Amino acid sequence: MEFDFDDTERTFQDVVQRYARERLLPDYQRWDAGERFPRERVSELGALGLMGLRVPVEYGGSAGSYVLAGIASEELGRGDHTVTLLVQLAAIAADLIGGYGSARVKRELLPQLAAGDRLIAFGLSEPGAGSDAAALRTLAKREDDCWVIDGEKASISLAGCADDCIVFARMAGGGARGIGAVVVPLDAPGVTRRPYHSVGGRLSERGALIFDQVRVPLDHQLGAEGSGFVQAMEAFDYNRALIALACIGAAMQSIDETIAYAKQRETFGKPLARHEGYAFQIAEHVTQLEAARLLAYRTLWLRDQGRPHTREAAMVKWLGPKVAAEACHAAITLHGWLGYDESLPLGQRLRDVIGLEIGDGTAEIMKGIVAREIFGREYTAYR
Ligand SMILES: Cc1cc2nc3c(=O)[nH]c(=O)nc-3n(C[C@H](O)[C@H](O)[C@H](O)COP(=O)(O)OP(=O)(O)OC[C@H]3O[C@@H](n4cnc5c(N)ncnc54)[C@H](O)[C@@H]3O)c2cc1C
Repeated sequence: MEFDFDDTERTFQDVVQRYARERLLPDYQRWDAGERFPRERVSELGALGLMGLRVPVEYGGSAGSYVLAGIASEELGRGDHTVTLLVQLAAIAADLIGGYGSARVKRELLPQLAAGDRLIAFGLSEPGAGSDAAALRTLAKREDDCWVIDGEKASISLAGCADDCIVFARMAGGGARGIGAVVVPLDAPGVTRRPYHSVGGRLSERGALIFDQVRVPLDHQLGAEGSGFVQAMEAFDYNRALIALACIGAAMQSIDETIAYAKQRETFGKPLARHEGYAFQIAEHVTQLEAARLLAYRTLWLRDQGRPHTREAAMVKWLGPKVAAEACHAAITLHGWLGYDESLPLGQRLRDVIGLEIGDGTAEIMKGIVAREIFGREYTAYR
């Protein structure tokens, strides 16, 4: 067994760690207070190779491993939890467009995606279909040389700022097998964006996307007409580990800040760190975060080996954000009143992490998947 990163992974980790510490962390609270994340910053992520991590080499990316994407998620999460969403969504778009897109769409979108000049959202959830995504109702109807899209997508990350969205729509009848995927340019006539006022993760400009008779060329379709749901699930299987690592990175940052505080703040004549009731709490959170972190990297490693990893991805998607939220919460109380003050980013991290307890599937849905993998499909409550 090998538990360590190799030289390439370690070098990559150093570069992303430095960027997160020096560039992201100092500005973390600006985007929460309402300032928009400038597009030049996305180009910066592109220049660092983070937006093109999963883009094929011939389109300007590095076709990096999923473990590298995990390292990016964890380290960026320490600097700015929500920036990890940009990198996760770029990886998903690269895999879906690179794997299922037409030659023209690949040529036009992937180099810009890799450069950080294009943001591509992932549009699955709807007002009436979240956990039960296969119940989605957005329609894609073929008319002459176009797909015509009608419907509403709910809670879409980057809804306010993306250039395109991979829209999952009903193309070929009911159920999961009737769903297809189409890349929809968001400047097309008939598209409306409706931003939400999110509790956290504000940089991601989450919101609704409404499609009213939006016409998209036929070659914007990704894969076969009924393959959309499978594509979405393939993406979820590794993104769930990336989400866990983003949350763990953010939580470890809060815990590291708490450790530094505990060494200098004294009560009852000695530093907080020397009170066992205090230090043991830190020990517990670090233990839980480390356990979840190993499961996340194992999931990504399995993916890189081409081995099944649905079970591990679902396990870590509920465990990682949960232990991260608990650690973020503890970091606030372990700072006393100061932790509850907005001068520190501790509350923002907790709000950000909670969002990803929901996004990409809640704990209840993840446990349903784990149970299905344990008991077998014939025992699942829903198919
Ligand atoms: C920060 C954030 C970012 C997101 N980004 C995106 C995005 O980019 N693209 C996208 O398509 N979607 C996105 N989403 C949407 C997200 O995937 C859905 O919110 C999620 O799948 C849950 O769906 P829902 O909100 O409709 O809740 P519902 O499905 O209505 O569920 C509500 C509650 O009931 C529980 N529940 C539901 N069914 C069951 C069951 N069978 N047994 C037990 N409990 C159950 C759920 O666990 C949840 O607690 C995002 C959400 C958030 C919060």
